[in-house]
Amino acid sequence: MDRALADIDPALIEDMVDANHILYHLGVVDGFGHVSARDPNDPSRFIISRSMAPALVGADDLMSIHLDGRPVSDNAPTAYLERFIHGEIYRARPDVVAVVHSHSAAVIPFCIVSTATLKPVYHMSGFIGEGAPVFEIRDTAGSSSDMLVRSNELGAALARSLGGNNIVLMRGHGSTVIGFNLRQAVYRAVYAELNAKLQAEALRLGTPNYLTLGEAVESAKANDGQQNRSWELWKREVRGER
Ligand SMILES: [Zn+2]
Repeated sequence: MDRALADIDPALIEDMVDANHILYHLGVVDGFGHVSARDPNDPSRFIISRSMAPALVGADDLMSIHLDGRPVSDNAPTAYLERFIHGEIYRARPDVVAVVHSHSAAVIPFCIVSTATLKPVYHMSGFIGEGAPVFEIRDTAGSSSDMLVRSNELGAALARSLGGNNIVLMRGHGSTVIGFNLRQAVYRAVYAELNAKLQAEALRLGTPNYLTLGEAVESAKANDGQQNRSWELWKREVRGER
């Protein structure tokens, strides 16, 4: 493992490995996408896998990265191209402890149809609040970019679009969710995708009656209190213990 992670609580390392596997198991990430956690010992660093498919991540694949995107250790392995998503969100939001970035399919239509805002359709996704903002990469990178958040400048622009929200969609790309702990970020990534599926279904039937902001806030609080129930189930599933 990266020597820069030597002092990290083994329980967090375990959760990071499980988080990678759970996100794949539940269809949030495929060969691409990534999850990170802020270093609890040094908030100017975060923990993330080296560049590889999340389903294959083990503890030895985790690495430590400075918020500006530089790996902490000399001769570090290849890092994800889009690590700037994580670093710049941690820099802009000192309250954020974990970040998940994915290209999960059901969310994509809400990234590209400007009249369709991702909103909470049920209590499981109250964290979406009043509706997810959409990051327009053209505003920073022009009209011929490769769509990837591959620089600090683009990461900072994404963080500005996120603002004080828990989720930001990315036009023509995917989405990024934040959490105040790692398990919460995983939960949110899973339910952002499920909410998008349900909302698209509802829009085919008619006009959805979304949660009010008050309902969204209160149901999100209630779910936060229960998050270990889902985590324990998902963890056992990916470990083959169920
Ligand atoms: Zn991406």
